[in-house]
Amino acid sequence: MNWTGIVIHHSLSHDVSAEEIDRWHKKRGWRGIGYHCVIRKNGKIEPGRNITQQGAHAKGRNHTHIGICLTGNFEREKPPEKQINSLIKVITILKMVYDIQKIERHHERCPGKLFPFKQVLKKVGE
Ligand SMILES: [Zn+2]
Repeated sequence: MNWTGIVIHHSLSHDVSAEEIDRWHKKRGWRGIGYHCVIRKNGKIEPGRNITQQGAHAKGRNHTHIGICLTGNFEREKPPEKQINSLIKVITILKMVYDIQKIERHHERCPGKLFPFKQVLKKVGE
């Protein structure tokens, strides 16, 4: 894959494992988890779909963008600092490995209005 972007999501759920999201997405008839990475509330980084494969997380951007999902519902709650710090680490590493040009939200309500998108961009040098 020739990754040029990253899309950030929230799971719109409780604090779930990548394995559980994998089961949800299989039920939808997909090949399994559509995100490349899941970040838990305690900061744990869990691998999702292999980075060598296209994800299934953002229509029209799946062939160019890596999908990262933070667990929680950020329409209702703020992500914990540990979770945001892990996200910053993951993005920083991905930027060293790939020619990432864009870090984007999924859409207006994903990852939720309480997700500190501007702060995250600043921390990764965007
Ligand atoms: Zn999303």
